[in-house]
Amino acid sequence: MSRIVVKIGSNVLTRKDGKPNVTNMSAIVDQVATLRSMGHEIIMISSGAVACGRGAVTPLRQLDSVAARQLFSSVGQVKLINIYNDLFGLYGIVVGQVLTQKENFGSRSSYLNQRACMLTMIENGVIPIVNENDTASLTELMFTDNDELSGMIATMVDADMLIILSNVDGIYTGNPSDPSSRLIEKVMPGEDVSGNVVASKSGFGRGGMGTKSGIASKVSEEGVMVIIAKGERPNVLVDLVNSPENVPHTVFLPSNEGLSTVKRWIAHSSSFAKGKIVVDRQAEEVLRGDSAVSLLPVGVVSVEGDWEEGDIVNIYDEKGSLIGVGKASIDSGNARQTVGMKGERPMVHYDYLYIE
Ligand code: GLU
Repeated sequence: MSRIVVKIGSNVLTRKDGKPNVTNMSAIVDQVATLRSMGHEIIMISSGAVACGRGAVTPLRQLDSVAARQLFSSVGQVKLINIYNDLFGLYGIVVGQVLTQKENFGSRSSYLNQRACMLTMIENGVIPIVNENDTASLTELMFTDNDELSGMIATMVDADMLIILSNVDGIYTGNPSDPSSRLIEKVMPGEDVSGNVVASKSGFGRGGMGTKSGIASKVSEEGVMVIIAKGERPNVLVDLVNSPENVPHTVFLPSNEGLSTVKRWIAHSSSFAKGKIVVDRQAEEVLRGDSAVSLLPVGVVSVEGDWEEGDIVNIYDEKGSLIGVGKASIDSGNARQTVGMKGERPMVHYDYLYIE
């Protein structure tokens, strides 16, 4: 038995005219039901609310992008969840809707609360169908896209596998429509394939292959296998689980090490950081090394921002590149006083430190 997070993109769930693609939806529901009957636990991340709302309501006047997102998602989400509910109902499977937003992952307590919600649903045999709450999310605080959300959820619930269903078979060495491009079948832990990703996105969703490959690398580094595959392929989900050699896809193999749930939360928290700690080269080398070390003031060049003990801080090298994230073990006032000093308390303890 494994725990599988399945993310389905807007292009799979909706037709070009903005109507729900009931054919694709029912194929996916059939497969999820099969996986369930085999004993697997499934969590679905379903996009498509905005795309589906667009086909259902015509605004009376020109709307700005926020109002349009709110209107369309409010209408489209209901349509999608109703269809899911009906289709899963045919198998006697109960589904539940989880609409969430980035803030719910911002503090340790809200993160654990969101995690508990998912685990309670799974424990009670309910399939969570998750989407971002596009009616309430503030533009500047939104997930980049549902690929990012699915990565967060997959690591949060300790999933064995994250399957991202898209409208292409995976990551190619060039543009997928170019016949000379080749599908990259396997990405090893730590391998960088971003150079191969064509910076384009297609269709309705917010994401593209760029974010998919970035998220997949990060999530697999955290110990979860990630697969990108084409959602319209018949039986794609069941084949990916039972006989992956029979279906084209890109797999990002998980790093063996995995991370504790605290580190997983921290790894995804960079955008909530209240402060900035800049370390010198020597400290960077030590932090990147194999042994677990805390971030000590002696290797710190400067600190910026005002934070309390327990807040998230970003860690930069001297060139200004982000190298890690941590939960501060002292506040910014104390941190400022100890910059560069030996024998002082760590600014970030290694249990709460994530280096990229
Ligand atoms: N939450 C958006 C929707 O349901 C999708 C975001 C995305 O495309 O990743 O329409």
